[in-house]
Amino acid sequence: MSITSITNATLVTADAENRVVHGATIVIEDDTIAEIRPASAPARSGATHTVDARGGIVMPGLINAHAHLAMTMFRGFADDRDLQGFLDRLFPVEERVLSEETVRLGARLAFAESLRAGCTGALDMFWWPDASLDEARQAGFHLESGPIFIGFPGPDHTMFADRIERTRSTAPHRWLFAHGTYTMQPAELDAVGRLAAELGTRFHIHASENQSEVDDVRSRFGKTPVELLDHYGLLRAGTVLAHAVVLDDHEIQRIAATGTAVAHCPLSNLKLASGVCRVPDLLHAGVVVGLGTDGSASSNDLDLFMAMRTAALLHKGTRHDARVLPAGTVLKMATIDSARALGIDHLVGSIEVGKRADIVRLDPDAPSLTPSYDPISTIVYSASRAEVVDVWVAGQQVVADRQCTTINVAATLAAMRELQIEIAR
Ligand SMILES: [Zn+2]
Repeated sequence: MSITSITNATLVTADAENRVVHGATIVIEDDTIAEIRPASAPARSGATHTVDARGGIVMPGLINAHAHLAMTMFRGFADDRDLQGFLDRLFPVEERVLSEETVRLGARLAFAESLRAGCTGALDMFWWPDASLDEARQAGFHLESGPIFIGFPGPDHTMFADRIERTRSTAPHRWLFAHGTYTMQPAELDAVGRLAAELGTRFHIHASENQSEVDDVRSRFGKTPVELLDHYGLLRAGTVLAHAVVLDDHEIQRIAATGTAVAHCPLSNLKLASGVCRVPDLLHAGVVVGLGTDGSASSNDLDLFMAMRTAALLHKGTRHDARVLPAGTVLKMATIDSARALGIDHLVGSIEVGKRADIVRLDPDAPSLTPSYDPISTIVYSASRAEVVDVWVAGQQVVADRQCTTINVAATLAAMRELQIEIAR
């Protein structure tokens, strides 16, 4: 058995009481958090590895509730455009360069970027999901993914009916994804929903990202995206809506009543000028809201520290209320509530005995984190991914002293620079 002891930690647990334990020792046995000692104590005898946190913050791995990870390859390729202008630029180049091989490369770069930024898991909607899942296993990253559906053949040149058949024949899957109600026919959406029910999978879709999407869907199909999803029984526990920016009160009620979760992506929403999600109203209605980055083509990186701070500030500013989305709420959105949205909160999302050891250690010597009167406020309002020093996923140390241990980053960057030339052509 491998035993790691992290001693002298300012432990931010993200548990039900959002407890902070000063001087804590966290004992990891294999992949599991075996023990949390409330006061500083000598390293447990028999520990194969001891890390002295020297009073610095130790926190749960952040979880990205909505991403297109392999789109790291399109970072900065379609800036300063709205959603429709962005998609008009992206879809043709995706058609030209995406393959199982380039998806592997983009995903590998995303895992390196994410892990070094303290993100240990993600919900990922993209082509060739099996390639990304395989890369995630090699990188030691918790990836939630599955087959994706859209109303055209896509870069893997698969017709809709064949995609349905292939998905059925390769079951089980954790997730099915539909791109959006505006990129497929209602009958196709219905077919994916029925397949998800048949196979018992969770379901993820972009919904009501901006006003023109809602207007477009309503004029073509007579219902808003959320109404269409409701009509086909796709508002339900196990469904995650990405964005959900343009919602009326009744839609918020239906999302809450059906146990549907929302992935809030403030950076992408701001950059694409999509608007501001009604997060305070969703939370008030009891909706589980996780935090996501979206793909690196629309928000340009996979930085959940930046997403946390942006979420906290954005809603205070637009509501003219400094009490909206306090730091403790935002930290939970990026950890346990993202885990809840993804249906993995029994495994990860907080630092508690019996859970998987997905743990991030911040630099105790960072000037930017000193002093720290409230460690949770420090994480949300002061910390950045630059202060992430060590990261464990399921007990495996995947970042040590800011270096990835499972990914050859230099080779990945070199290959991505080659691909950049091809993409820019
Ligand atoms: Zn997205």
